[in-house]
Amino acid sequence: MASALEIVAVPAFADNYLWLVHDADSGEAAVVDPGDPAPVLAEAERRGWRITRIFNTHWHPDHTGGNLAIKEKTGARIIGPAGENGRIPGLDVALEEGDHVSLGAHRAEVWEVPGHTLGHIAYVFDGDRVAFVGDTLFVMGCGRLFEGTPEQMHYSLGRLAGLPADTRLFCAHEYTLANARFAAHAFPQNREIAARLAHVEQERASARPTVPTTVGEERATNPFLLARDTEHFADLRRAKDEFRSA
Ligand SMILES: [Zn+2]
Repeated sequence: MASALEIVAVPAFADNYLWLVHDADSGEAAVVDPGDPAPVLAEAERRGWRITRIFNTHWHPDHTGGNLAIKEKTGARIIGPAGENGRIPGLDVALEEGDHVSLGAHRAEVWEVPGHTLGHIAYVFDGDRVAFVGDTLFVMGCGRLFEGTPEQMHYSLGRLAGLPADTRLFCAHEYTLANARFAAHAFPQNREIAARLAHVEQERASARPTVPTTVGEERATNPFLLARDTEHFADLRRAKDEFRSA
């Protein structure tokens, strides 16, 4: 049986997490959304991990800015959404819905999850109960609709929420505290949200990361998954854009 994927967060910029993923059996490592090459290369070197793949979820520079430098240093292949070909530096392999990528014996299915950007994809390692979701779903939140429609994003989030409850979701930003405060504001009667907000406040006060989350936790406390329908989702997204917590 294959050993479990090792996944570590490499913090970058103000609040990004660049995910380093290692398969001990093959010795291969991948980095998901390397906005900044230096901390990724340093962490991989420190651990003795060999980066062979770069997985991009979407074209935004804080997710792709390190592509070329990491490729130059390691020879890694740059893998990302076909829908954003031309906007992703050095893209070698363009992926569409239903395509598969692998890291050693671990296999991920590619899901197109438009909304934040139109070509945004997620990497779903269903055998590992792990998904890399970029800026689509955040802990207790979701990405801003820069390119897509509320319909698209609501559908994309619904797909991710349909994964098994114990699936761990790795998103690309530490936005949880602001998201939890908005969730408590939008759903003031929801006790699970209130309890999670209290927990998140403690974690962040000690500067501990709140990512990954699980599908089960998100189904219970993510306001955008609690939306009754697309119209409600759109109202919540608009309200979140304008929300300023005290
Ligand atoms: Zn983005």
